Amino acid sequence: MFDQFHNVISNVSETISTYEDQLGKPVIGVMPAYFPMELIDAAGGYPVQLWGNNMPLQMADTYLQSYCCTVARSVLELEMKGGANMVKAYAFTSICDTLINLREIYRRLFDKPTFELAIPSTQTAQARRKYLKDIVDSVTNGLENVTGKKITQKSLKEASEIYARSRELHRKLYDIRQTKPGLIKNYDFYAALKAGFFLPRTEHNDMLQSLIQKLEELAAPTSNRPKILMSGMVFDPIQTYKIFDEIDVHIVDDDFANGWRTASKSEFNYEDIYEGVTEYIFNPSPCCCVYNPDIDRHDYLLKKVKSSGAQGVIFWYVKFCEPDAFDQPQLIAKLKQEGIPATTIEIELSMTNFDSVKTRINAFCEMLEE
Ligand code: SF4
Repeated sequence: MFDQFHNVISNVSETISTYEDQLGKPVIGVMPAYFPMELIDAAGGYPVQLWGNNMPLQMADTYLQSYCCTVARSVLELEMKGGANMVKAYAFTSICDTLINLREIYRRLFDKPTFELAIPSTQTAQARRKYLKDIVDSVTNGLENVTGKKITQKSLKEASEIYARSRELHRKLYDIRQTKPGLIKNYDFYAALKAGFFLPRTEHNDMLQSLIQKLEELAAPTSNRPKILMSGMVFDPIQTYKIFDEIDVHIVDDDFANGWRTASKSEFNYEDIYEGVTEYIFNPSPCCCVYNPDIDRHDYLLKKVKSSGAQGVIFWYVKFCEPDAFDQPQLIAKLKQEGIPATTIEIELSMTNFDSVKTRINAFCEMLEE
């Protein structure tokens, strides 16, 4: 059922090149996180999401210190080694200092346009909208210059519907995983999500739709294995989910920036592009990188753990992501106050030996079983 998703993530360059030829649209590389891909689609681009990769790091270290996260270092490595030649332009958001600086590096090193959707840190929704108006105009102008096409009300409406459908299908998949623990292998679940980073959205929607139909017909397996929730910025390295499968632990929910935090977003408001972008960035799931005093991340996470039936939480920490590191101690303290076990596992996207990760996952799950 999941072979086609695994094929995509094992052949990323080929997949993108094939669809680039088929669609005849310029490939736009989308950096983490929360850039509304509806804008790219509506402007006639082909968005592909770059959440990092597992390339050995050699060239990127000339420009980024080793204490920068491997998300940023590995995407830079990819461009420097020529692995992203098909990408014609890059879309950034300003979610962290590393990415703000990375964009500056791209501007100096490469001859490719970059756009930055700068995210404001303000108290009210009104102030956010006001700030974002000029920013959105500059981003859409930049996109239109690359694609040679204008964003129209019609193209934005079509793109909004496609992405709304996509997120609805993602949420259905999340729901099946939670209500039928063990039916979907952890490795398969994240392969299905990851394939969507590279495929045209309509193609991924069709694949998800037929997968969900098959899964809905299957009964939940009987299992009393531990159930956990994962939280972090990115769910990679994807190979680590084979470890969760080996140990036979069920991830029943997550709070990843490239997982639930994106899947939970509602339909983009195509009638008011500024309102649409503002709503998209700030709601509904809180993130360590986006300041929104209207949503308390502690209560949000607690509620998520309780509703998912998870017995514990693993904070999946990409070294050395500052925003994530700042939030973790308070989140862990809150969970512990409520008697919910939590632990942090440190990872790097470029890691090739997973022994220590396996030991940590094993130890945590044994503790949950006790
Ligand atoms: S992992 Fe953290 S530091 Fe790295 S790009 Fe994402 S938010 Fe920024």
